[in-house]
Amino acid sequence: MTSHNTIDIDGSQGEGGGQIVRSSLALSLVTGKPVSIENIRAGRNKPGLMRQHLTALNAAIEISSATASGNAVGVRSLQFEPDEVRAGDYHFSVGTAGSATLVLQTVLPALLLAKSSSRLTLEGGTHNQWAPPFDFLQRAFLPVINRMGPRVSASLERHGFYPAGGGRFVVEIEPAQQLTGFDLLERGKDVSRRVTALISNLPRQIGEREVEKVLTRMNWHATNGHVQEVAAHGPGNVVFIEIESEHVTEVCTAFGRMGVKAEHVAREAMREAVNYLKSNVPVGTYLADQIMLPLGISAWQQNETKQRGGSFCTLPLSRHALTHIEILKHFLDISIEVVKTEEGHTVVKISP
Ligand code: AMP
Repeated sequence: MTSHNTIDIDGSQGEGGGQIVRSSLALSLVTGKPVSIENIRAGRNKPGLMRQHLTALNAAIEISSATASGNAVGVRSLQFEPDEVRAGDYHFSVGTAGSATLVLQTVLPALLLAKSSSRLTLEGGTHNQWAPPFDFLQRAFLPVINRMGPRVSASLERHGFYPAGGGRFVVEIEPAQQLTGFDLLERGKDVSRRVTALISNLPRQIGEREVEKVLTRMNWHATNGHVQEVAAHGPGNVVFIEIESEHVTEVCTAFGRMGVKAEHVAREAMREAVNYLKSNVPVGTYLADQIMLPLGISAWQQNETKQRGGSFCTLPLSRHALTHIEILKHFLDISIEVVKTEEGHTVVKISP
């Protein structure tokens, strides 16, 4: 199955991880171009497709009745050729504690442009290290998508932490068919700042110590801190620092884990938050790599009336973001410019 217009992707390039696979599938669904990916996740300790990537691939196959080969765990190369993307009521389950938010990343762009609404139920991990936690998805990422035209809402039904998994959330998508670009160069006024410690099947005191540490160090009022005890299948602990500004919200996250003191976890979340606050940029490191794809699509679509593409100001680009730029260029005939400003900020401009 290789047609003359197949896009060839080397999965070992740049950061060499799962995002290359997910973004390539997402862009194949959006453009209708078949894709062939070799050396899948060659940069990781356990290369090849893991359960969560396989779920993403199967989800992409399901929404587009695609022809595909390579859909098995451990596989290091795959071919994928989508048919027409169909909106609908879908249920995707990772089957392990693997990240379900990353499965969403794969199918969401195509469903944003579909002919009718979709409802997705996603099961697996909702709060995983090295993946967008549900709270980031809901409060940092989706508001940016919603300003592009579609209406997307997400509700969490059960938290899922590593290793027990068992989380579930529902995403409702009202598509827009065309994505409107935007410029996000400033944060605007401060709206709120808060810290939340999530605790599942662990002593509440862990969360209290984390919140206390952040409030003291950041010099925030006690009303800006909360401990949220949740019922999940297994133990879990996550600290979020949420910085809401007029034009954007950033959610900085750190994960509690065995043998790591609560105060240390709090410090990890604070390191990211302080770095973001000091920089004064609107777009944090993770949001930067995640909004490139929808912004790229808006630049690529034929659209006479609305803004195509746009720009955002961010911290120095991560390897994820740099790799993402390369993947976008394989599929979309667009221009992506990365400029350093005098203040040392990075501005990414994406245009037709
Ligand atoms: P990969 O490592 O290639 O599987 O990609 C990981 C994805 O998860 C990237 O899109 C990151 O932006 C995202 N990600 C990782 N950690 C976080 C975090 N703490 N908050 C938000 N997004 C994250």
